This record gives sequence, structure tokens and C-alpha cells, in this order.
Amino acid sequence: DLVPVKRALLSVSDKTGLIDLGRALAQLGVELLSTGGSAAALRKAGLEVRDVADVTGFPEMMDGRVKTLHPMVHGGLLALRDNADHVAAMETHDIAPIDLLVVNLYPFEATVAAGADYDTCIENIDIGGPAMIRAASKNHRFVNVVTDPEDYAALLAELAANDGATSYAFRQRLSQTAYGRTAAYDAAVSNWMAGALEMPAPRRRAFAGTLAQTLRYGENPHQGAAFYTDGTNRPGVATAKQWQGKELSYNNINDTDAAFELVAEFANSGPACAIIKHANPCGVATGATLAEAYARAFDCDRTSAFGGIIALNQLLDGPTAEKIVEIFTEVVIAPDANDDARAVFAAKKNLRLLTTGTLPDAATAGLAFRQVAGGFLVQDRDAANVTMDDLRVVTKRAPSDAEMRDLLMAWTVAKHVKSNAIIYVKDGATVGVGAGQMSRVDSTRIAARKAQDMAEAMGLSSPLTIGSVVASDAFFPFADGLITAAEAGATAIIQPGGSMRDDEVIAAADAAGLAMVFTGQRHFRH
Ligand code: 5GP
Repeated sequence: DLVPVKRALLSVSDKTGLIDLGRALAQLGVELLSTGGSAAALRKAGLEVRDVADVTGFPEMMDGRVKTLHPMVHGGLLALRDNADHVAAMETHDIAPIDLLVVNLYPFEATVAAGADYDTCIENIDIGGPAMIRAASKNHRFVNVVTDPEDYAALLAELAANDGATSYAFRQRLSQTAYGRTAAYDAAVSNWMAGALEMPAPRRRAFAGTLAQTLRYGENPHQGAAFYTDGTNRPGVATAKQWQGKELSYNNINDTDAAFELVAEFANSGPACAIIKHANPCGVATGATLAEAYARAFDCDRTSAFGGIIALNQLLDGPTAEKIVEIFTEVVIAPDANDDARAVFAAKKNLRLLTTGTLPDAATAGLAFRQVAGGFLVQDRDAANVTMDDLRVVTKRAPSDAEMRDLLMAWTVAKHVKSNAIIYVKDGATVGVGAGQMSRVDSTRIAARKAQDMAEAMGLSSPLTIGSVVASDAFFPFADGLITAAEAGATAIIQPGGSMRDDEVIAAADAAGLAMVFTGQRHFRH
């Protein structure tokens, strides 16, 4: 099943590694065919190349829309070399076989990510490239197809190991990879158009990504895993620069994302910090300085913060870095980090530091996925947030200005906590987080209980929930959760409202002297 490579067609937009590959192939005696820009690059490096236009007898035309779409090319890619009819057709029409296709496509995804206009994006949809990739992939019994400069080395190693030939198994793997590329490419086009047409999530049909990283393992060591990017280039864990520390794990990526998406909500709030464990925040705080924001986030739940993931909404400075390294932390992600901070972290080899350049926009539309057996669920990402004007005061007492600020913060954090979510906030810092319980009253109790534990550990006379406000990600179905929050010392509540028993719940709030506002909007997160 070894097939020698005698003729190659090279047509690449990303010219990375092209010259080295061309030279290595030429040394093996492979004849090189190529399209305009690729041919020019190869020639400039002193290599002998035949133009595809010379093979087809047609010039490249229509702004490059038609270059390789011709039987002389597609016949050479698709002909079965052991089929008498195919061989006769090749002879009749003077079609020479092409044994190796090296193509990478017009950079459609990068063009979209750069914010190009509609027509520019359209012009960056590659037509001839995917056509050739699919032709060569189908004919992998005879033809090699490489679509990623990362695979050039493997191709050359295979050719070296087999005297200028490749094995069937190798060509099969190339083909499988290549179909993945064209599938992802068309999905990117379809998704971009869905965005341009403002199509709702349920009506987008194509979903695909590009392999960014093969991970050591998944959520657990016995699970294989990989990280795919979706081409949106959203600032965050997918685009971040890693300065130090081991490779990110599957769980690190998931938690770092949760942390950074949460802190991005605080783009206009001055310094802010979120500490995440198992995708839930165990502390979120604002402060006069970033170091203070971190310290206050840490004080929410010092026990859980150990081994956590920290996200910051602005440049990581030296004083904040000094505080962070006092305990073990897995990952720190921030828009940027200065030299002082990096010097402090350099002594902690295992601490991963990521910088993103900027914060993502919490309000941008996008898609969120969840897998179920036999399919997956697609929805718009939860980009909603309320402002003061959206709130309806339902109790006799209205919240004070200070309570109102804390209520809005608690509500924002609630959006990033697994349901049932209960968040106590005081003076711009969470002081209790109850996450992921099957009953809302349990979340309320757990958050208060943890605040009490923290107060004991810190030697405080009373828990920080005294004089706090509370957010509930969905309505209180009964008054019991609200009463529990009041007992923990909360003075004001924010929740969607809309329960059958709203009247009961409002009456309980009034009886306890609480101020309560309804958002009319829910933030389930499962
Ligand atoms: P070059 O830089 O060599 O002039 O062009 C290389 C690019 O052209 C590659 O990305 C390749 O996929 C693309 N390409 C090759 N043939 C065709 C074609 O017939 N039509 C279009 N639209 N693109 C092509």
C-alpha cells in the first residue's frame, strides 16, 4: 500500500514552512505545481515550479476565484490509478496524476475575527481550495493531502521512512484531518452568516471548531480530551498568552473561562477580582486597589480559595501578585501583568499566568452549548444584565443607595453561579455564596453557614452576612429561603419575582423589614 509521491500541488494562503517543504520535496525529486502567490514564493527561494495555469491552459481569473477548478487538476487528484477507465481518461486528456496536495485555505476565520466588512468576508471564502482538499481526501487510496503547516514535518518523516512513498494508513489519517478542516471552514462561514443575519441560536445549523490543543486528559485522568477554538477570537482563555507554569488542564481551562467571564462583568467598576473553584466563584470583590479587591474576594471563603483560579479585571501589579502567592493558586488570568508582578510570580514555577490584552465584552451575543446523550443543546449565551431602571421595588421599604449597589453586584455574580444560586454581598464584596443545590433554601443556608465559619476562622464577632444584601438567581418559590436570608442578617433582596407565591414572599419581606426588588429576568445556570 506504499504509494510514491512524484507530483505535488502546493497552494497555500499561510506560507509558513512552504519554502522548507518545497525544498525537501524537490530534493526527493518531486515535481512541484503551484498557484500564483505560492509559486512566486517558491521561485523566489530558487525552486523550480510549474504554474497551475500552465497545466490547465487557463490563466487564474476573476480575482483568483477560478484558479484550480479544472479537470486537469481535479482529474489528477481524483483518478483511480488502478482503474482502466480512469487511466484511459488520463491518457486521452493528458492528465498527469497529482500524488500530494498541500493546501491551506483563504483565512476566512481570521478575516471575520479582524472585523472585516461583509464583502471582504465573502471574498475570503475559499472555493478551489476546499474543492481540491475534498477531491484529494476522497482519493486517499492514492493521494496525500496536507492542510496544516504543523503536519509538514510528519509528511517529510513519512516520506523519509518509506523512500519517498507514504503508507495507506498515513494517507487515511491525512484525509480524516482534511475533512475536519473543510467541515470547520464551512461551519465558520455558516456561523458568520448567521451572525450577520442576526439569526437566533436555534436556527443555526453548523457548529465546528479548530483543534487548538490536545490535552493530557479530560475532567478525569481516564478521559481523553482536546481544546477547540470557535474562531470568534473572544478575549479569554482561548486567546491568552501563557507566561509561565505547566500546560493548562481541561479543568483549568473550564475554570479559567468561568473566572474571566465573571470578572469581565466588572469592566466599569474599578479594580475587581473573582476566585473560582469548580466553575463557581468562592469570592468576588471590588476594591480601591486590585490588591484590596483580591484580599476581599479571598476573605469570602479562604478555605475554598486554596488551589483556585483567579481572574482580575485590570493589569496585575506587584502588590496584588505578592498577596496572591501567599497561598497555592492554579491559574491567574488578567488583561495584562507588569514586570513587578511577573518577577513575583517567577519564583512560583507551578503558578500559571495568562494575559489576554483586554477584557471580553460581557454583553456580546454568542452561542452556548451543552451535550446530552444523542445530541447537543444550543442557546444564546446569557449576555443579559439589568440596570437600576429595570428593577421594581415590591416592598414597603426601598433599598438605600448602598444596598442598591450591592444588589446589582450580587445579581451580576448570581449569573455566574450554578443554580440554585444565592449570593450575599456587602460593600462590594461577596460574603457568602451558595451554589448548585437542588433546593434554594439549602443554597441560602449553606452560604450563610460558610459566612459564619469564615467569621470564626477570622476571629470576627459576627458573620459578614450581617447587614448584607442577597441575590437569588430565580424566584423564591416559598418564603422560607427569604426568611433564612433575613435570619443570616440580610437587609435587602434581589430576585426575578414571578412565583405563584410572590404575595407571601413579599409579605414575609415586609414583616422582616427587608427591601426587595424584582428584576423580571432569571439567570439559571446549570
Ligand atoms: P496563492 O497564494 O498561491 O496565489 O493562492 C493560494 C490560495 O488559493 C490557497 O488558499 C488555495 O486554497 C486557494 N485556491 C486555489 N485554487 C483556488 C480556486 O480555484 N478558487 C479559489 N477561490 N481559491 C483557490
